[in-house]
Amino acid sequence: MSVSVLVVGGGLVGTLLALRLSEGGCTVQVLDAGRAGAEASSAAAGILAAQSEATTPGPGLDLGLESRALHAALHAELGAPGSGYRPNGALLPTTASDHGAAVARHAWQVERGLRVDALDAASLRAVAPGLHPRFTGGVLFADDATVDPPVLMASALAAAARSGVAFAHDEAALAVTSHGGRVTGVRTARGHRGADVVVLCAGAWSRLVEGVLDASQGVAPARGQLIEYALDPVPFGPVLYTGGGYLVPRADGRVCVGSTLEMVGFERGTTAAGLETLRERAADAVPALAAAPLRRAWSSFRPRTPDGMPYVGALATDGLFVAAGHHRSGVLFAPVTAEIVRDLVVHGRRHRHLDALSPDRFRQGPRA
Ligand SMILES: Cc1cc2nc3c(=O)[nH]c(=O)nc-3n(C[C@H](O)[C@H](O)[C@H](O)COP(=O)(O)OP(=O)(O)OC[C@H]3O[C@@H](n4cnc5c(N)ncnc54)[C@H](O)[C@@H]3O)c2cc1C
Repeated sequence: MSVSVLVVGGGLVGTLLALRLSEGGCTVQVLDAGRAGAEASSAAAGILAAQSEATTPGPGLDLGLESRALHAALHAELGAPGSGYRPNGALLPTTASDHGAAVARHAWQVERGLRVDALDAASLRAVAPGLHPRFTGGVLFADDATVDPPVLMASALAAAARSGVAFAHDEAALAVTSHGGRVTGVRTARGHRGADVVVLCAGAWSRLVEGVLDASQGVAPARGQLIEYALDPVPFGPVLYTGGGYLVPRADGRVCVGSTLEMVGFERGTTAAGLETLRERAADAVPALAAAPLRRAWSSFRPRTPDGMPYVGALATDGLFVAAGHHRSGVLFAPVTAEIVRDLVVHGRRHRHLDALSPDRFRQGPRA
């Protein structure tokens, strides 16, 4: 008989994981407190920053590289409109005074065999003619890429539904239930939903579901504000990392500029100060943006863990799993997370980096 799985939270993490579990022969239902896909996963900037945001070798880099490769395949697998995947690279523009240090800072990636190009002024202008003239060089991570998060999210939801995943909206899981050390389902305001396996994927809200994560397994909301301009054609090809944030070009003449990182609980919305910071960052990097029309501004909540790495794996109760806390990299990490959980639940197979993602990694003393 097929294993019944209840996935709590229909963001990108929960939806892709539901798709893979369904393909693996499970009967899968996704339960969402609101509309599946309506939170961080469709609000993100969509940078697949496997290299450009990596600061050291280790599991974070390896998982990012693995997942970046999975994104290219996922785009093709999902069918039109796919994910908006573009292998357009990410660029750290440099000035005469900081170029050498920026190149040296990424030498470890070259040693690791990864592609990192040091750009001179002419090659910088070729990939980003609209950059402010104070930039005279750059470090280009040509293999990084972008997706368009709302497009990816909608395609992932459609693919999961096509493969037989059932979605229940507007029904929050209040607590996970268990009997004799084995999970039995979840309790919601409407009653009890039974399942053989429960996977918690409730993003920034994951700590609020009772009976899953304890005080040592913190996931906190980290608000990020974003703005979007219309500027057609966009006068740069790769993502630009500058001024403490980033500018993401879209193929259809939009530029997304992000982001703030604010620990303000679950307070929704944008602020005048946040938007001003983003506008200054945009115009300071690409002067043409100073006069470009602003299309929209929004915010959402990154699910932040103490070390910025997600919790993925089994919990003490048999049949209970977690895949939450992807912080700034949940869009990048969602495909590899989905495969890790499918391999665990369906095949009992452990990914080589599962220990780095252990939900128990901050626990002092033995598991309860
Ligand atoms: C401003 C910003 C920019 C970002 N940019 C990038 C980027 O460029 N690249 C990148 O890789 N990542 C980026 N991220 C991070 C990324 O968006 C997140 O890590 C990722 O979307 C988390 O996915 P998720 O499915 O865990 O959470 P979410 O998408 O937030 O989904 C969680 C779901 O759980 C549901 N839920 C909550 N509580 C319950 C409950 N009790 N019962 C049932 N359902 C519940 C919610 O309704 C929601 O649908 C960004 C995030 C922000 C905020």
